[in-house]
Amino acid sequence: MTSAVELRHLIGGEWVGDPEVERRNPFDDSPVATVASGDADTVADAVAAATAAQPGWAGKPWPTRGAILLDAAEILRSRHRPVAEDLVREEGKTLAEAMGEVRRAIDVLRFFGSMGWQATGDVLPSATPETMVYTRREPLGVVGLITPWNFPIAIPAWKMAPALVSGNTVVIKPADLTPLSVHNLVTALTDAGLPAGVLNIVNGKGSVVGEALCAHPDVAAVSFTGSTAVGEHIRSVVQSRRGRVQLEMGGKNALVVMDDADPAVAARVAAAGGFGLTGQACTATSRVLAMPGVHDEFVAALGKIAAGITPGDGLAEGTAMGPVVSDAQLATDLKALDRARADGTLTGGDGDGRLLRPAVVTGLTADHPIVTDEVFGPLIAVLPTEGLDGAIESVNSSVYGLAAGICTTSLASAQHFAARVQAGVVKVNRPTTGLDLNVPFGGVKASSTNTFREQGASALEFYTWSKSVYLGHDL
Ligand code: NAP
Ligand code: MG
Repeated sequence: MTSAVELRHLIGGEWVGDPEVERRNPFDDSPVATVASGDADTVADAVAAATAAQPGWAGKPWPTRGAILLDAAEILRSRHRPVAEDLVREEGKTLAEAMGEVRRAIDVLRFFGSMGWQATGDVLPSATPETMVYTRREPLGVVGLITPWNFPIAIPAWKMAPALVSGNTVVIKPADLTPLSVHNLVTALTDAGLPAGVLNIVNGKGSVVGEALCAHPDVAAVSFTGSTAVGEHIRSVVQSRRGRVQLEMGGKNALVVMDDADPAVAARVAAAGGFGLTGQACTATSRVLAMPGVHDEFVAALGKIAAGITPGDGLAEGTAMGPVVSDAQLATDLKALDRARADGTLTGGDGDGRLLRPAVVTGLTADHPIVTDEVFGPLIAVLPTEGLDGAIESVNSSVYGLAAGICTTSLASAQHFAARVQAGVVKVNRPTTGLDLNVPFGGVKASSTNTFREQGASALEFYTWSKSVYLGHDL
């Protein structure tokens, strides 16, 4: 229907590079984009452009920088539906999910744009008479952003917006699978008047472009979202040259269903968290620990919901679930489903190519790889558990610590769980997925560097350093 767009790198305000790599729609393989693929030289050019633009950008007042973000939000809002349709075409999620994600990017630009008008430092008393002490938040310089395919516009927005409003310049390497959404986000900002060189894109492979960006000595900080394996490698590269690094990585998010919960309601919470976004969310519910009194009813209810979901074209009206993003991700999902079938009892999980039906597996032991390892597909493992403390112990036995949930009508159980669970996000009677943009987000253990949080006002901390000024006068 629509023809493929040509995507280039953006370096110092110029669109450069020959589009050569094809990107196709995961639903029907129709062409979406041809994309230029960069190398270490492209990264060096982009970092040089960002370095040259940084003092001028940092010299503008915070409200001036914020105003550009606010204008970009309006521009993106005027393109809301076509940008969401592009997102569906390149990543596969449903139009409703994509509209929500683009809405999130718009709101993130608004949130950080308006932070241009807010206090960013403190005024403190001094022990010296007639002396005022205040703190300034200084930008780091050039920051590198490396983002995954699963939220191809929201994650770049929630990294870019705090970086830009606080006076940094940016080089972003979008996920290889999803460059179009980043292109659409960046053009909203450049159309809003962002000066040349302040925001640069280098498309291409993580192993080439991502690697070069992490290793570049002039990149003061790297913020990464993606898998734990890649993240840990990036940590070693950036820290070895004393750069600042923020990693948000994988998860194996658990939902505990207590005896006092309605199993039908809990099944809806689990399905939203585990099957929404085709199960391809870092905070997706992928294991459920159910108490004996609700276990069987819960499993039956969840199986029924799974059976009622038919995957299809994300752009078609009423599609409940989009395709798996790629053949590589599909191969991972199918391997997990084969193991689940062999070692447990599987319902669902049949499919037609990338159109994979959601699945529920029971009868696996707690140390089974399906129960311990991230799959990143629409598969939920349900295990019986006894006692709240036993359930908490199971939740905490994971190497990951991103999101965790509990379904209960007991306030005591909810608070006991929230206090003891090792996860950056805790949800009570709500899906493990779904975040508010004004709330700090990040994980613990193998899910995160667990230093700086993303989102909300705390996001500025990663992109700035604090300077203390003692202001006196001749006595
Ligand atoms: P990924 O394979 O780790 O890739 C993430 C990004 O890193 C991509 O842009 C990738 O480029 C790049 N990259 C790959 N190798 C690199 C290297 N050696 N040096 C520098 N950059 C490199 O993750 P993904 O498959 O895109 O996304 C799925 C994963 O992201 C899941 O594990 C999920 O849990 C995680 N995730 C976490 C969060 C969170 O906030 N905690 C949110 C969303 C997703 P290419 O695309 O070219 O490979
Ligand atoms: Mg990957």
